[in-house]
Amino acid sequence: MTNPTATAATSRDPKVVLITGTSSGIGLAAAVAAARAGFTTVATLRDPQRADALREAAEEAGVELDIRRLDVTDAASVAACVAGVVADHGRLDAVVNNAGAGHVGTLENESVDDVRQVMEVNFFGVVQVAKAALPHLRATGGRLVTVTSVGGVIGQPFNEAYCAAKFAVEGYLESLAPVAASVGVTVSVVEPGAVASAFVANVGVDADQAVTEAGPYAPALQAYLARTRATFASAAQTPQGAADTVIEALTAERPAFRLQTSEAARQFVGIKLADLDGSAAQAFTTAWIA
Ligand code: NAP
Repeated sequence: MTNPTATAATSRDPKVVLITGTSSGIGLAAAVAAARAGFTTVATLRDPQRADALREAAEEAGVELDIRRLDVTDAASVAACVAGVVADHGRLDAVVNNAGAGHVGTLENESVDDVRQVMEVNFFGVVQVAKAALPHLRATGGRLVTVTSVGGVIGQPFNEAYCAAKFAVEGYLESLAPVAASVGVTVSVVEPGAVASAFVANVGVDADQAVTEAGPYAPALQAYLARTRATFASAAQTPQGAADTVIEALTAERPAFRLQTSEAARQFVGIKLADLDGSAAQAFTTAWIA
């Protein structure tokens, strides 16, 4: 374990946050909100050609962003981006693992490679970025904030692979949190419910075709898709609303381990969780290494 090279940064310099997946949705809104909140904000995307909406939003808000390429599935791009940020800004105070992608399918109708791909983006992407950032976060007593999902707490029909990946993220980070805290780094997960972003469109499911190809699962898939459409039409929160919770995780004096982004998300995970904000589990496991 190496400590990052000492920098000339002082605690009075603006804090530097790196956010993944800022081409749209929660990541875009969080990037603009973080810059507004006074962070030097490194807004990363896997394809810099898709930065127009981000640039426009920043211009409209009158904030500056440092826009860089980072593909969470590409180890070289993650390492290069984190090293470049520390070289150019002299510090890294926070990372927001926001990049992620949905997937609709069920075991019989998807390949193991499909499942691996979902894990690659949503789980290993988080691990890869966190691993590159942690030495630098340790140097600043920084924060690692990760956008998971209510699907990281409650498994949902036709979301086996996606929920497995988000469960994996939550388990990984719940385990890492007391260890990271022992070296001064705060770890939090942010759990949105339905958010009206490009997320559903980006899943790229042709509903009619998916139902046609679903065989014995067609009636269940049809019901699931209808229910999802209705939920997103009537009860989705805005990306800005979810981004507000990301900013809370970045700025609150002592953020909880687990933060839901809306009352609906809180009620949903509350079906399963006795420890809604994760503080009971953290207190228990932190005592093992105190
Ligand atoms: P979104 O608008 O689709 O944004 C997802 C972002 O992730 C996009 O910027 C996308 O970039 C990026 N991304 C995907 N694969 C990537 C990769 N390999 N490397 C870097 N970036 C990558 O959806 P969103 O709602 O804002 O999603 C943000 C986070 O919230 C995700 O982790 C998602 O799982 C979570 N979430 C969303 C909802 C919801 O209902 N929307 C609910 C719960 C949790 P491209 O533009 O290049 O594809």
